[in-house]
Amino acid sequence: MHRRRHHERHVTGRMGWLRASVLGANDGIVSTASLVLGVAAAHADRSNILTAGLAGLVAGAMSMAAGEYVSVHSQADSEKAELDRERHELQTDVDGEHRELAAIYMARGLEPALARRVAVQLMAHDALDAHARDELGITEALRARPLQAAGASALSFAAGALLPLLVAALAPASGLLPLVFAASLLFLAVLGGIAARAGGAAIGTGMLRIAFWGALAMIITAAAGKLFGAIG
Ligand SMILES: [Zn+2]
Repeated sequence: MHRRRHHERHVTGRMGWLRASVLGANDGIVSTASLVLGVAAAHADRSNILTAGLAGLVAGAMSMAAGEYVSVHSQADSEKAELDRERHELQTDVDGEHRELAAIYMARGLEPALARRVAVQLMAHDALDAHARDELGITEALRARPLQAAGASALSFAAGALLPLLVAALAPASGLLPLVFAASLLFLAVLGGIAARAGGAAIGTGMLRIAFWGALAMIITAAAGKLFGAIG
């Protein structure tokens, strides 16, 4: 029993990052493959296709990083505000805070006397840490880290975007469109399966779902490229 619970706790922490990275890579594949197919369908030559794809990679990675930084930073701000409020309450109403923590442990199934003793001992050890963890759900392991999140998001997007770009660079000109399309679908299906597995969902459904939306995005963008290429 003890061994299983320890394993689960570790897995959960890593799964969050894995899922975020896989989803970031999916974004990179879908948006860059669609961009490459759109420009290729407008009869651009390979260097223009690669230039557009590379610009899309950098722009996408930067916008992912900016978006992630802003959203995680606002989470970090609200965590800090909560901790500041808690610190103040611990300074101004320590008895009330003892009762509050004991009530939390009682609600989790501890006997009143034991709950009070645990609250006293944990608050004597590190009151703010005990309240942050058990009252606010803020733990060191899960603290919001805006820079790391932004970096991980940009990297996973860029890693995903590189895949269709490599295919576009290596494919024969005559087969560029179908090869980028097929290879990107394959990459998406594999990543969709990994994300589903990481989240404990059905792998097949995860693969199909991302492949369907990826295919739709690529087809619509290629059609738009063909249309504008014909007009231009
Ligand atoms: Zn409290």
